[in-house]
Amino acid sequence: MRVVEPKVMHPGVASLPPLEPGPGMARTTVPVVPGPVDQAELLVLSEFVPPERGVVFPPPQQLAVGHGGAAHQREGEGGGQRDRDAGHGSWEGDAGHPIDRTAALATDVLRPRRYDEDVSVQRVLLAAPRGYCAGVDRAVDIVERALRLYGAPVYVRKQIVHNIHVVRDLERKGAVFVEEETEVPEGATVVLSAHGVAPEVYENSARRRLRVIDATCPLVTKVHLEARRFAKEESTILLIGHEGHEEVIGTSGEAPEHIRLVGDVDEARTVEVPDPTRVSYLSQTTLSVDETNRIIEVLRERFPGIQAPPRDDICYATQNRQDAVKEVARRADVLLVIGSDNSSNSNRLVEVSRAMGTSAYLIDDETEVDEAWLDGAENVGVTSGASAPEWLVDRVLAWLRHRGATEIEEVRVVEEHMAFGLPRGVRDSDLERAGVGA
Ligand code: SF4
Repeated sequence: MRVVEPKVMHPGVASLPPLEPGPGMARTTVPVVPGPVDQAELLVLSEFVPPERGVVFPPPQQLAVGHGGAAHQREGEGGGQRDRDAGHGSWEGDAGHPIDRTAALATDVLRPRRYDEDVSVQRVLLAAPRGYCAGVDRAVDIVERALRLYGAPVYVRKQIVHNIHVVRDLERKGAVFVEEETEVPEGATVVLSAHGVAPEVYENSARRRLRVIDATCPLVTKVHLEARRFAKEESTILLIGHEGHEEVIGTSGEAPEHIRLVGDVDEARTVEVPDPTRVSYLSQTTLSVDETNRIIEVLRERFPGIQAPPRDDICYATQNRQDAVKEVARRADVLLVIGSDNSSNSNRLVEVSRAMGTSAYLIDDETEVDEAWLDGAENVGVTSGASAPEWLVDRVLAWLRHRGATEIEEVRVVEEHMAFGLPRGVRDSDLERAGVGA
């Protein structure tokens, strides 16, 4: 948790207590309307939702930015409700993120900057496709439907998708995130995350008489089925992926005796197998397409008869987001990737851009942007990982507009129309039967 210490405190907020988050911290609401904002000041309000179960969240989100007097008027044109209100000391959260669900804290008061003079940003190149894939969309929908059907708490094993904002939002609605199914009270409802699980998780859940709703992405399930098939054929499966990632743990659990993990080209050169004539490979769904192809090339050289999965395991969403980043990185001076640091596909987007010589940074939201990254940058690329909701993109775009961007150009490489069906237990028919509406 990073707390921004006030640099110039507005008199009306000077009495705010210091923000010291920690396990068990109680929700705090402070008055955020100290009076008219001085002409020479820019007031930044941040929100902070304290942990309810000992989890410390990332830095507070920027909730509202406002200027007094002339500064307010200069920024007001593109700023919408937030700026208009700010000048009159009447604060509201930005659209879709009402202040009343947060503990709002004024954490920083800065001198207004002459953005038109000291920043260079002119154009935003917005990658498309970006953001939610069909598997993430489905997983989040499943938790929300489970909450409507069965009521809070609904337990969720692991982060349903790797995005801290999504997890926090679902926690507010009544989801309780646990690391293992063994932490879920007997007989309770548990949702399994989009990344898939090993068979023993289903076994443990059955023993505990849990109502299991499986949000595993169907494209991950496909890889599990391939692992089972290759294992049945007594093939050694070289699983290309990152050690410790939940998806890799889940896939490995399908055939632990047969699977060897290959993390990079060096490991592809050295991995040993008992019978080089009975080898196959699979991969994690969210890897770098180019890096994975290099690994596969090495494996094919070493094991000419190696069996491939019938269709690439790297999923359509990973491929499309990387293709879009390549187009953006060709033209951008710097790329901002919206995603959490445990999101594999988001990290790969950063790498793809850097491999093309374009600086790229992973951010959870606009509060994590270091303005030094934008020094001298006229064209700023923006994209979001498959687990980042679009409202985070909106916030980053608003932030960039405040810093001078006047043009937003979408750079689209392909249309996406993928959608997956819901599992039994949370379908429309289940909601209708329960009288909670579809
Ligand atoms: Fe499924 Fe791909 Fe999304 Fe993962 S990134 S949840 S495999 S669609």
